[in-house]
Amino acid sequence: MKSRKTSKPEALVRAMYRQLVRAWGRQHWWPAETPFEVIVGAILTQNTAWSNVEHALASLRSSGALNIAGIREVSLAKLQELVRSSGCYRQKAERLKNFVAFLDAKYHGSLEQMFTTATSQLRSELLAVKGIGSETADAILLYAGNHEIFVVDAYTRRILVRHEAIETQAKYDEIRDLAERALRDEEPVAPTFDEAIDWQRPQVHLESAMSQAKRGPRTQIYNEMHGLMVQVGKNYCHKQEPTCDACPLRTLLPKMRQRHGPQAW
Ligand code: SF4
Repeated sequence: MKSRKTSKPEALVRAMYRQLVRAWGRQHWWPAETPFEVIVGAILTQNTAWSNVEHALASLRSSGALNIAGIREVSLAKLQELVRSSGCYRQKAERLKNFVAFLDAKYHGSLEQMFTTATSQLRSELLAVKGIGSETADAILLYAGNHEIFVVDAYTRRILVRHEAIETQAKYDEIRDLAERALRDEEPVAPTFDEAIDWQRPQVHLESAMSQAKRGPRTQIYNEMHGLMVQVGKNYCHKQEPTCDACPLRTLLPKMRQRHGPQAW
């Protein structure tokens, strides 16, 4: 596709955030009861749908392994079996073990201690753990640790490229910087939405201890925006044949796209 940056990508990201909040309200992402459950989910959701992760989390929970001691003590073979439904189960079981080994070696097995580390330092440490990449590290920092960092996923990239806010080949950290610059001074999300707006609202997750956890305004905004972008990506901005006509972001498409629709790509 043609790659042309808009003159004000930050303004566009802010407009997307406001438009989506008005249309859909809170998304209650990340669905989990403890920070450790967020971390396990962030590792298991790599390259797979959340529904597959839910099955794996249920297996871990019912076997008593959905906690730090549980992952530490369960055998690798058993762990592989428990997380099988999330796909790439051998690597993912190993990644869970790698994370707990890191936590034990560096922070005496304490997430509380780990999350007191400065964001940039902890991010570097997490990225050094085998199997933890940028998106997983940032999800751990934001959703489990309440650090002020935006999570970039494939949906966010696709949406911003299609709206010409970023180049097709933009790097992960470039997109994260853009979202953080755009949203860092936004107001906290009101937990209601405008009933007069008649867009179909996607199904949201049930409230959970982690989705309701007390956060600073900036982490709450980053949390909500990521959840909203996931919903746009899952329900409208498909890789093939995006359904722009029904999408709440259609009025923010570049004019040429609004005129010609998805076939313009
Ligand atoms: S579906 Fe269309 S309007 Fe919605 S985010 Fe994707 S490109 Fe934009």
